[in-house]
Order: sequence, then C-alpha cells, then structure tokens
Amino acid sequence: MSITEMKMMLNMDARNSTKQREFAKKLHELYKTCVICGISIPVEGAHIVPWCDREEFDIDNGLLMCNNHHALFDRFLFTIDPNTLIIKLSNEMNEDKHHKVYKNKIICVPKEINLDNLKNNLSSHYDKFTMHSDK
Ligand SMILES: [Zn+2]
Repeated sequence: MSITEMKMMLNMDARNSTKQREFAKKLHELYKTCVICGISIPVEGAHIVPWCDREEFDIDNGLLMCNNHHALFDRFLFTIDPNTLIIKLSNEMNEDKHHKVYKNKIICVPKEINLDNLKNNLSSHYDKFTMHSDK
C-alpha cells in the first residue's frame, strides 16, 4: 500500500468514526434507553444492517442498545420481528432466565424514525437470524 493510499484510509477512518459518533448521539437523543432492557447506561448505536455491508449511518438503520444487547444482536442471538416489532429470542437465549423476560416484548420506536425504512432494515436482520437458528 502506498503512503497516499494509507493516508486516504486513515482519513476515511476518521470520517467514519465521526459519523459513528453522530449516529450514536442521534439514536441516544431519540431512544434514550436500550430498546430491549431499558437501561440508560452504557448504551451505544447498533447498526441493523451491518455497517460493512452498507456504508450508511442512517438512523432508520439503527437502534439504541446497551453493550450487552448490542453484542447479542450482532451475533443474531435475538432479533426483532419486522412486522410486529416483537423481540424474538434464539433457543439459547430462551433457555436463560435472565434473557427470556424480553421474549415477546414490543420495542418502542420514536415517531421521528421512518417506520417503513426501519422495518425494511429489520427484515434483513430477521432473515439472517432465521438462517442462524435453522442450523
Ligand atoms: Zn439492553
């Protein structure tokens, strides 16, 4: 890799981390707490369609989650039904007494979010979740 290429990459990284911070900030202002468990700290902006698949920091492609739920969401251990906005747990999570309390809970979406776009993004996560749990 040339120096110019390296500089370009670093610039892109810096731009993206600023975008990521703004994305998380906006989600925090709208959702305030983790959409799953409702705790308010520590929370972070979770991408529904992974950031590497689509370079977008659109709030309709995000949810505010605590670190714990963000990690589980990224690993497809639970998902959110795109039609009903109901939380669906994987079998592993269903067997855990601490996690199963969130089963069938409906997430609250602030009115500022475009629901059609959100549902569209959620359906991509939902499909992957279904694929994972079929294994
Ligand atoms: Zn949580």
